[in-house]
Amino acid sequence: MNAHSDPGVSGTPVPPAGYKDAPYDVELVAVSKSYAGTIAVDTISLRIPKASYCCLLGPSGCGKSTTLRMIAGHEPVSAGDILIGDRNVTDNPPIARGTSMMFQNYALFPHMSALDNVAYSLKVRGVPKDERRARAREFLDLVQMGQYAERPPALLSGGQQQRVALARALITRPRVLLLDEPLSALDPFLRERMRGELKRLQRELQISFVHVTHSQDEAMALADLVVVMEAGHIRQAAPARDIFEKPNTAFVARFIGGHNVVPGGNGSIAVRADRCRIGSSADQARLTGHVSSVEYLGALVRVGLIGDNGLEAAALISDRTFFAAPVEPGQAAALTWSDEDAHALAD
Ligand code: ADP
Repeated sequence: MNAHSDPGVSGTPVPPAGYKDAPYDVELVAVSKSYAGTIAVDTISLRIPKASYCCLLGPSGCGKSTTLRMIAGHEPVSAGDILIGDRNVTDNPPIARGTSMMFQNYALFPHMSALDNVAYSLKVRGVPKDERRARAREFLDLVQMGQYAERPPALLSGGQQQRVALARALITRPRVLLLDEPLSALDPFLRERMRGELKRLQRELQISFVHVTHSQDEAMALADLVVVMEAGHIRQAAPARDIFEKPNTAFVARFIGGHNVVPGGNGSIAVRADRCRIGSSADQARLTGHVSSVEYLGALVRVGLIGDNGLEAAALISDRTFFAAPVEPGQAAALTWSDEDAHALAD
């Protein structure tokens, strides 16, 4: 597709021109939010480069939704600035920010058809009826819902309602689409399908998506930029591969999963479970103890180990390696890894 032209009612819709100069779609500058004494978000700064898929990832209560709502303008900041492109929108209402939000429960109007739901955002902006219906059709096609245009939400499945909600959020041609746990209401099969669909739309439209999730898998699969949050702070913001290969703290290493956090020379070290091996020879062992669990995952087998010092760790090994020398729970075993696979943590 051509990302630089406005195709009107035909072709793939693109965001309006005039945004292309700022290097960041979103910039948070020392943003904080407190609620009557509780600090929900504590002086966070973040730059989201143009046309990025950004996931805000962290456990429940860490401040992800509050951050998203502040970007949307649904929640005023207690301190700091929010820029969309090169515009400071801190004091702008939601409609004048260049952002659009897709809510978790979709928030579709039950008495309106899918088409009218999508066209509604243009109605409130004063776009004439014929034009807004034509554009709504275009956006329903974009999310592959063209044939359901006349149906009310009650006659659509959860996944289909979500597509309509997406079209409704995108029709205003935002520079930034904000999504709060968009996949959590779907069953696992549909979740994976919609995940692919979100990524496709983000790539096609060349706008930024900011997607709140507590699922590491979802963030790793989707994001160009993963922002790991804890207790109102950003602990690490980096591409998924950097976060996985170089988590900066024990919290990030544990939260992202797939790592063992063990004491090292100065502080803790992280070592990826898929870089660990199970052996019985104590001489090269890094951690000796016994096997606590064996989980067959198909291509991989996860062997849990409890060290003699009480530390829990795991090795993720290929099925071939495991079955060449299988171990059982209760059996004495040792975990080994190479120095180059150990990574020092900041705390
Ligand atoms: P997350 O989205 O990561 O689960 P939230 O941003 O919803 O976290 O919440 C962060 C913190 O702010 C939590 O401690 C939460 O209880 C608190 N909080 C969120 N919204 C409100 C509110 N409207 N009033 C008071 N406290 C709130």
